[in-house]
Amino acid sequence: MFADIIIDIRHEKLDRIFQYRIPESLQEELRPGMEVLVPFGKGNRITKGYVTGISEICDYDLSKVKEIRDISRTGVAIEGKLVALAAWMKENYGGTMIQALKTVLPIKQKENAQVKKRLRLLLDAETGREKLAFYLEKNQKARARLLAALLDDPVLEYDLVTKKLNITLPVIRVLEEQGVLAVEERRVYRNPVKEGTMGRKKITYTEEQKHVIERFRQDYEGGVRRTYLLHGVTGSGKTEVYMEMIRLVVEQGKQAIVLIPEIALTYQTVMRFYRSFGDRVSIMNSRLSAGERYDQMMRAKAGQVDVMIGPRSALFTPFPDLGLIVIDEEHEPTYKSEQVPRYHARETAQERARMEGASLVLGSATPSLEAMYRARRGEYVLFEMKNRSRMQQMAKVYTVDLRQELRNGNRSILSEKLQEMMEERLERKEQVMLFLNRRGYSGFVSCRECGHVVKCPHCDVSLSVHRDGRMVCHYCGYSQPKVTECPECGSRHIGEFRAGTQQIEDIVKARFPGARVLRMDMDTTRQKDAHEKILSAFANEEADVLVGTQMIVKGHDFPNVTLVGILAADMSLYTDDYRSGERTFQLLTQAVGRAGRGERSGEAVIQTYSPEHYAIVTAAAQDYAAFYEEEIRYRELMGYPPVENLLAVLVSCEDEELLDRGCRYLKEFSMRFREKAQASVIGPASPGIDKIKDIYRRVLYIKAPDYGMLTAVKDRLEQYIEINPGFDKMRIQFDFNPMNVG
Ligand code: ADP
Ligand code: ZN
Ligand code: ZN
Repeated sequence: MFADIIIDIRHEKLDRIFQYRIPESLQEELRPGMEVLVPFGKGNRITKGYVTGISEICDYDLSKVKEIRDISRTGVAIEGKLVALAAWMKENYGGTMIQALKTVLPIKQKENAQVKKRLRLLLDAETGREKLAFYLEKNQKARARLLAALLDDPVLEYDLVTKKLNITLPVIRVLEEQGVLAVEERRVYRNPVKEGTMGRKKITYTEEQKHVIERFRQDYEGGVRRTYLLHGVTGSGKTEVYMEMIRLVVEQGKQAIVLIPEIALTYQTVMRFYRSFGDRVSIMNSRLSAGERYDQMMRAKAGQVDVMIGPRSALFTPFPDLGLIVIDEEHEPTYKSEQVPRYHARETAQERARMEGASLVLGSATPSLEAMYRARRGEYVLFEMKNRSRMQQMAKVYTVDLRQELRNGNRSILSEKLQEMMEERLERKEQVMLFLNRRGYSGFVSCRECGHVVKCPHCDVSLSVHRDGRMVCHYCGYSQPKVTECPECGSRHIGEFRAGTQQIEDIVKARFPGARVLRMDMDTTRQKDAHEKILSAFANEEADVLVGTQMIVKGHDFPNVTLVGILAADMSLYTDDYRSGERTFQLLTQAVGRAGRGERSGEAVIQTYSPEHYAIVTAAAQDYAAFYEEEIRYRELMGYPPVENLLAVLVSCEDEELLDRGCRYLKEFSMRFREKAQASVIGPASPGIDKIKDIYRRVLYIKAPDYGMLTAVKDRLEQYIEINPGFDKMRIQFDFNPMNVG
């Protein structure tokens, strides 16, 4: 028997795995992740290494292979646990061990030290409040916002202020000139809030919160570790519940990881954790340099931190005694990695928690079908919080049938109802957000008269129009000529659904000449910081209407927004994949949730050609349970995840002919598992984009009820690919239960 061993895990050079012979005496005991002592280099110096895999085959000259000396008995190193997790990821998601190791291990990179800036309040509390009143009176909203934040916390990280509070540089300069604040520079990364300045507001938990906390406490103190799904409407107080759970775990001397999608990692959220855990909390985000990230990981390893908050990658924080992992907004697609290994943070967290004896809490207002399915089957403990903690009303939602608008002679993208309501808000000096979802939009064909959408007869997903004019299915490759007449009602008003934010901005300006309109989309946010500038201007009420793509629906609170218009709910409904209903429901729920964050209650208008579609009906009624019932029935019927599992095999190659031949072989080979794994093989099809930079692309889907069977198929495919030189010119990647095709 032979073991794959990685010697140095701290450096960028993490690119070589060495094989060693396993002595008879250790063969029973040795596992991936274990720390071992091996002779290394010319002098055979005894060096520490980690086992990354075990095999019966040796790839090198047998006479040169050295033998493992011993298993290191100094206790299990944190690295060992992460190496074991990497082995699990390689097994479950494909890719190489090196790729998996690079994902989980903190890697030191050479780089120059960066200067960190922070802002310090120079005024005392009373002068500060006077100044604040002055800014408010002058309607200088950005200045007021910054000063109010500084009055809460006298020292703030510069980045936090510019990026999360949406304050622009000139505003900081003005306050600096006025002697309100000072900009300081430091070399080391430290937290902006010190122990002494913590001020957590005392709150009385609602009955729902108490129930959840109590159940968790009983389990935790009784040594029971589980996965919990906390389904709570927005504002039901989920974050407060996480914090109480974390406190419990930290009191026992353990640590916690909190995953939050980067876009939702707002200033307010970050500050709430700081106030609760002070210097013992650390934040990870993509703006940190590689060096800063590494430093944070080392602080965590050294026990200087109890709580790590961050996006997906924070899951691999090397805590010595991990007690809890929280995944907030569990349904977000960003928890799935789009790079090899294409892991999902939810499943990987579950495995890490299992390995290390930690609990896992998943939270969402709109849980993913995966999570709810498992909760319903008893794999997860389900907690529900149905009420808002502070008595705010949920927004009132109107659904407008765009087919009816057309019949009434209104060809504008703004319905009569929405126009009326916008008029009211503009008069009352309240703000409006208009939302045009383009995520996943793929050029589906629909009838403007009856709403009919042309779908694949085999897969029940929308067909997309290709450059060559044909309509194709991105799952199975089915195609047909473009229709010119609605197959349902015979209308000639059928075609690709077209609408852009620019066009909407123009329409709004034409219809409401007095309104100040801002637009946020890929075009207007191309420049650095443009994103922040737009949000900042809107927060300062420098505009009445904000038109934007899905970028605008998340994470930001604008208390003066009392109306949200969703212009074409259909755009996400008829994307060409099986998650489109789920994504639409989530987006609509979030968008509706943007209205009425402040004192005044909010309203939302959903415009659609498919008012009877269950995703729209249930989103308008804000009824998750009803949505789930319908959606899971569809998944069952079609055998889509989470009921069955789907493995996408992405194949790309410069030579199209070779690629097609390769795909045929792969398909034939996969078909062998039809019986054993109850698998069906679909495709090859186009993954949305057929060619990127002259490299042709195809995708093959393998569907099977059992995930383990699919990983076994993947293993066999990997072997098949390796021994057949014909695949040398192709790049082949695996994606389990993919989020996006292509
Ligand atoms: P969620 O994470 O479910 O959206 P939050 O935890 O962010 O909800 O709570 C929404 C708001 O309500 C926050 O400002 C929070 O401080 C407040 N809040 C939460 N629980 C309570 C409570 N029991 N009493 C008073 N305010 C609360
Ligand atoms: Zn029609
Ligand atoms: Zn199809």
